[in-house]
Amino acid sequence: MIKFLDLKAVNDTHREELIAACTRVIDSGWYIGGEELRTFEQAFASYCGTQHCVGVANGLDALVLVIRAWKELGYLAEGDEVLVPSNTYIASILAISENGLIPVLVEPDPATFNICPVNAAAAITQKTKMILPVHLYGRLADMPKIMELAQRHRLLVLEDSAQAHGASLHGKKAGSWGDASGFSFYPGKNLGALGDAGAVTTNDEKLAATIRALGNYGSHQKYKNIYRGVNSRLDEIQAACLSVKLKSLDGQTEHRKLIAELYGKEIINPAISLPAHDGSDGHVWHVYTVLSEHRDALQAHLTERGVQTLIHYPIPPHLQQAYAEFSEQSLPIATQIHDRILSLPIGPALSLDDARAVAAACNSFQPVAL
Ligand SMILES: *Cc1c(COP(=O)(O)O)cnc(C)c1O
Repeated sequence: MIKFLDLKAVNDTHREELIAACTRVIDSGWYIGGEELRTFEQAFASYCGTQHCVGVANGLDALVLVIRAWKELGYLAEGDEVLVPSNTYIASILAISENGLIPVLVEPDPATFNICPVNAAAAITQKTKMILPVHLYGRLADMPKIMELAQRHRLLVLEDSAQAHGASLHGKKAGSWGDASGFSFYPGKNLGALGDAGAVTTNDEKLAATIRALGNYGSHQKYKNIYRGVNSRLDEIQAACLSVKLKSLDGQTEHRKLIAELYGKEIINPAISLPAHDGSDGHVWHVYTVLSEHRDALQAHLTERGVQTLIHYPIPPHLQQAYAEFSEQSLPIATQIHDRILSLPIGPALSLDDARAVAAACNSFQPVAL
């Protein structure tokens, strides 16, 4: 079977170095908040092109803690509205509602799956204080237009870069455009830990310090608590493993680009639409999504031919039970995407031969006449 993502094979390529990194941490006797974390934070900030990186427990916490910190610093308050794409992964929206702010769902550009700046502009009210663009599937949102909109309306910008490690636009990387950015290092992400991990990047020193305190019980100084914080830390073992894997990230991204290019050339089937691509090389292809009106039949066809696929995502946020209050909203673009989208295998360990087999399996799909 051709797996959607063979995580064991991905981590096998770093096996010796990962074992050495874990051994180093075990032998150090220091497991939380030490040298490994500082080293990774510096390396990742420098990789993204920001002054600060704060390690946290996971990607959701990264987003939650940025918003929480802005509340503590007096920039945001409960009831403020936040623009967020209607087709994002649920975590982007949870981070807003968790903080008592109001998610305002904005339809994406159907060609890029990213938040549409025109629709975002139309959704701005007196209460709008922030925009949360998501670099979905590894492609940067239209950040020049979003930053311009944010400046015009004095909105804070929080990038959700959980799917976009190393992605760029005009040479400027994900995580360095907005006022802050949240990253996830969930094992299946382009830069994945061997467990949960996340980080915030920012150029704002005060924000970084506030997040650091919030994630450590609200304390800058041991036993002195200035906020009602939480426990959200990136531990030494995960930091050490991430430092190992960060060195190979660009090489792995190059391999993802080769697979995307191969799919773009070899999948020729009128029943399957490929993702729009303008040839620029900033897309890091976290997932390779195709669209088909016969998505479920296509997925069954590929499964029969030994090709594992996933759906990112089967239910749009506004139709989730958790957000029943949004169920009456009309969001046809998000709904259509969720009904038609399918993610093909892609990753650093997928061979080009297997990718060719995936393309051939796509080409042999024929939707039954209705
Ligand atoms: C994975 C993901 C998150 C959450 O990251 P976790 O580390 O799983 O908490 C947030 N936003 C997006 C877009 C994601 O893909």
